[in-house]
This record gives sequence, C-alpha cells and structure tokens, in this order.
Amino acid sequence: MSEPVTIVETPIKLDFSYTPGVASSRFLRSLEKGKIVGQRCPKCKKVYMPPRGACSMCGVATDEELILSGKGTVCTFCVTRIPTPGLDAPYVSAWIRLDGADITSMFLIQECDPEEVRLGMRVEAVWVDEADREPNLGNIKYFRPTGEPDADYDTYKDYV
Ligand SMILES: [Zn+2]
Repeated sequence: MSEPVTIVETPIKLDFSYTPGVASSRFLRSLEKGKIVGQRCPKCKKVYMPPRGACSMCGVATDEELILSGKGTVCTFCVTRIPTPGLDAPYVSAWIRLDGADITSMFLIQECDPEEVRLGMRVEAVWVDEADREPNLGNIKYFRPTGEPDADYDTYKDYV
C-alpha cells in the first residue's frame, strides 16, 4: 500500500512589471544608495517608511522627506522552524519600527541565535555590497542586533 500524498511541490513563476509612483521611485532609488527615505505627513506628523506619497489617515500628500538611520526596534517577531527555500530553519522574521518611523516593516533578523531575539531588541540594517545594489528592498539583507540596551517598552508598545 502506498503512502498518502501529504505535500506537493509545484514551481510557480510569474513575470510582471512594476511601475512605482513618484514616492516609491524616490524610495527605491534611495535604497540603491544605501539610504532609507521616509516621508512625514504635514498634518498628523506621522513618518511613513516606505513612503506612499500620501497619508492614509489624513488624505494629504506627504512630500517632506527625511533619511532614517537604518536602526530600529523589534516590535514583534516569529521564529520559523520549517525550512524555506533560501533560508535555513530556524530563522526569525520581525516587524521592526525604524527610528523616526511611525509604521513597522518586516525584515529578517540574523547574526544572533533566534532564542536571543526579543521585543524591544535594538537592531540595524545590514546592506548588500554597494556594487550589487539595485533599486529594491533586497538591498537590506537583514537586520542584526546593535548591542544597545533594549528600547523602553513605552517607545514601541503601540506597535506590538
Ligand atoms: Zn496624516
């Protein structure tokens, strides 16, 4: 008697073209230069990263740009213990609030034991080599611990 089928691997390939708007284009070009650009809403003062060109809460254009440091705080995270193509298990993905930003973004955390990752952990971006950069978020390979003391809970409690 044969074993029941429990998993089927099906390679999928999808070709598409992405046409970014003005804000996204400037953001992607900044990544190519090793910088992370955010935009501040003139009304509520929230800083968006990645910038969308408008504040979704206020409905106004966000044309004030600022450069974020590339450091941030882990607001929540997940340890994945199932292998993923290109990633050895276990690995950590985390929602990180970059310093100065008012929204979180998901990145991998590496260069530490997954068991060491915790809420409030201070992390920094690790970039691909300058010669290999392209206008996309793949320029940030992952984040790693900075070794700084953990952030105070009050600074990220609204993002957990
Ligand atoms: Zn706003």
